[in-house]
Amino acid sequence: MKFENSLAFARTLDKKDPLKSFRQQFHFPKVAGKKAIYLTGNSLGLEPKITRSFISQELNDWARFGVEGHVHAKRPWLYYHKFSKKVLANLVGAKPHEVVSMNQLTVNLHLMMVSFYRPTATRYKILTEAGAFSSDQYAFESQLRYHNLNPADGLIELKPREGEHVLRTEDILKAIEEHREQLALIVFGAVQYYSGQLFDLKAITRAGHDSGAYVGFDLAHAIGNVPLSLHAWGVDFAVWCSYKYLNSGPGGVAGAFVHEKHATDLSMPRFAGWWGHEEKVRFQMKKGFRPMTGVDGWQLSNYPILSGAAHLASLATFEKAGMNNLRKKSILLTGYLEYLLKSIPDFTQFFKIITPARAEARGCQLSLLTTKNGGKIFKSISKAGVLADWREPGVIRVAPVPLYNSFEDVYRFVKIFNRALLK
Ligand SMILES: *Cc1c(COP(=O)(O)O)cnc(C)c1O
Repeated sequence: MKFENSLAFARTLDKKDPLKSFRQQFHFPKVAGKKAIYLTGNSLGLEPKITRSFISQELNDWARFGVEGHVHAKRPWLYYHKFSKKVLANLVGAKPHEVVSMNQLTVNLHLMMVSFYRPTATRYKILTEAGAFSSDQYAFESQLRYHNLNPADGLIELKPREGEHVLRTEDILKAIEEHREQLALIVFGAVQYYSGQLFDLKAITRAGHDSGAYVGFDLAHAIGNVPLSLHAWGVDFAVWCSYKYLNSGPGGVAGAFVHEKHATDLSMPRFAGWWGHEEKVRFQMKKGFRPMTGVDGWQLSNYPILSGAAHLASLATFEKAGMNNLRKKSILLTGYLEYLLKSIPDFTQFFKIITPARAEARGCQLSLLTTKNGGKIFKSISKAGVLADWREPGVIRVAPVPLYNSFEDVYRFVKIFNRALLK
């Protein structure tokens, strides 16, 4: 599409947007009494207006039924983890029995590593991107140490080439080939939280399997942002949180995917708890763990109903909007943001967009690496009503979310940003 740098044009795009009605379905925070330009849905997604009624339903059922809510609630608590399966399966490209909502992301990453990181004397290395999200780094290091291995030797962290900010797929595949005898596990953030790069999950999975390693992904910045096909790609496992693009509220219940080739293998090693036990006989409370088939057999504890209610509210919105429609708008919306940013006179003297330019290699986020006064610029846009996000040493991350951001948001943001650069 041929873009134009004007408010009128941005408004025309909004008018033509088939998803425009969804914006009204969210609460927007205010800055100095005015609706914020919210571009940080990659940190915490906005609250859908229907969330309150979903949580109220559970509070009412709890008041009305007490413990009997486990069976008599509108959505019986005993089976709560099942109600999110259909939409989650669509979002990650999986079969319903390959996905489950449970715990928190880092907890799930550890649980998956218990199953998929079983180092031997010769095959013990973990390969990941350099600068992975801190929690993932800590998980990798502590897993290595737990197996009496030295992270300096056991953890391979791939850096972009000198002078570049994102990894080339060819370099990732080369590194996998280079370490093929020693690789036990490959884990990448599917969309890198800092650079916004969407990795080629299919190619990484194929190369990883070729080398004899397991391959998993952290979907924190990918789920609800880009379409995924985990089952078809043969990915072994994945984990995600639900409070970023999934709008399920702060600390919302997370999720995990285990490919059916492993999920149906009841001998797969795992840490066990009663909620993963064969459902029909769970309450016999007998000795001897028998896992359920599917990823449900990785559950430990009974389900967090209140946070799960918020999760269902948000997933209902995703189901209505449709991930493919969202992606279509997202490519246009982020494309427009990029176009406007590049229309700033001499923009390269102020900042560089380090996120890949190709739509296939990014989600909705653009990471702007400031060349000078980054902190000052960020403060200035914040004061002017923009909620974005600052990452040391100099990156401003902006994520126009297709569910609730408008082309006008993007237009107004760039105006404010441009003014801040010239201050
Ligand atoms: C947000 C995020 C996390 C957060 O982990 P929690 O366990 O949910 O606190 C982990 N990894 C990545 C890549 C993230 O972006």
